[in-house]
Amino acid sequence: MAELTFQTISFQDKEDNVEVSILKYFSTLIPKEELLSISEFKITSPHSIEFIKISQEKAQKKFSYLLEKYLEHLKTKLTGNKAIYIHQNSGIPLIGNPAFGIVYRNSSIIEIKPVTSCNLDCIYCSVGEGLSSTKTDYVIEKDYLVEELNNLIEFVSEPVEIHIGVQGEPFFYGALDELLEDLQQNPKIYRISIDTNGTLLSKEKIDFYTKITKLQINFSLDAMDEEVAKTMAGTKNYKLKHILDMIRYSSEKGLQMVVAPVLVSGYNEKEMEKIIQFIKTLPNKPILGIQNFLPYKTGRNPASVKSWPEFFKLLQELEKKYDMNLRLKAEDFNVKKTIELPKPFSINDEVLAIIKCPDRFPRTTIAVAEGRMISISELEFKKEKKDKQVKIKILRDKHNIFSGKICS
Ligand code: SF4
Repeated sequence: MAELTFQTISFQDKEDNVEVSILKYFSTLIPKEELLSISEFKITSPHSIEFIKISQEKAQKKFSYLLEKYLEHLKTKLTGNKAIYIHQNSGIPLIGNPAFGIVYRNSSIIEIKPVTSCNLDCIYCSVGEGLSSTKTDYVIEKDYLVEELNNLIEFVSEPVEIHIGVQGEPFFYGALDELLEDLQQNPKIYRISIDTNGTLLSKEKIDFYTKITKLQINFSLDAMDEEVAKTMAGTKNYKLKHILDMIRYSSEKGLQMVVAPVLVSGYNEKEMEKIIQFIKTLPNKPILGIQNFLPYKTGRNPASVKSWPEFFKLLQELEKKYDMNLRLKAEDFNVKKTIELPKPFSINDEVLAIIKCPDRFPRTTIAVAEGRMISISELEFKKEKKDKQVKIKILRDKHNIFSGKICS
């Protein structure tokens, strides 16, 4: 008999299949027939499966093989979008792609992006993420991310802030609490900031985060009117009262916080004053940084941009009226230039790389070479091309984020 137990994997009976969930929010189905080919089995707890007539070693080997096979059908539970699990043995490095992994722009703020996908559908989302997204999602094994991040921090050898700013909602990362605990323990990290829409927070979670003393939560809050808030969030399920309760509770608990509304012309200008009035009622005032909506090529762009003179005039009037600073300045972030991370290749280089998985958008593929990911445009990922070598001409190399095209 063999019992396999996993921390990050859970099992659920689903008629002819067993649903295998990875880090809670991503899942694939393994046909029972396939599991029976290992041996008779039963799910003994959400995280354990028992194979009756086989040794531990054989069960481990055979189950790993099956899991690898069915991870090719991994999906984001929320949207049904295709998802890729990036782990120690996936052969995919964590530097090179702007959407997930580690982004280091030669500054003391290192971005980490352990997951993609979001439960809102904000009308102004700069990365076009959310319930209506059909893009490929990614989720990264926590220990792999921490190990690679620690290596980078060693290289930088200066105190750093870690910014968890994902293309989506970071609380959709099933190992977020453990990740935060690991980051808290690293003495070279002086701050951990995280951008959130607040929907998945609870009082219990906030109580836990009071122990992560380096944590700063950056809340998005775009309106105080329920209907306007739902319009901004792009979903009728947005519960403004819950978000306000979470902001208030975080403030009562003394968490470091930033509240960052996005002003979208024609949608929520009138809400800014109400947000300021709400912030003024909090016991520990967060930093309030009102941002002007900016259009992005891959984002949702529902309105034209408010001109900068108009935007600043509005802020000045509000700052004067409420005796409050409403603009985030460079000093608020304490960003320093740090050592450059060497780039293994530069623009126009021709590089031999190995195809690994689909990239975020249709007709794009991720290949890897020399410890970096490279996004290849105009190339549909095909399963049979996985692990095949291609020659790529590099078209972008800024900050070790690489894109290219297949050499003709
Ligand atoms: S919460 Fe953030 S990631 Fe999600 S849809 Fe809104 S802006 Fe995009």
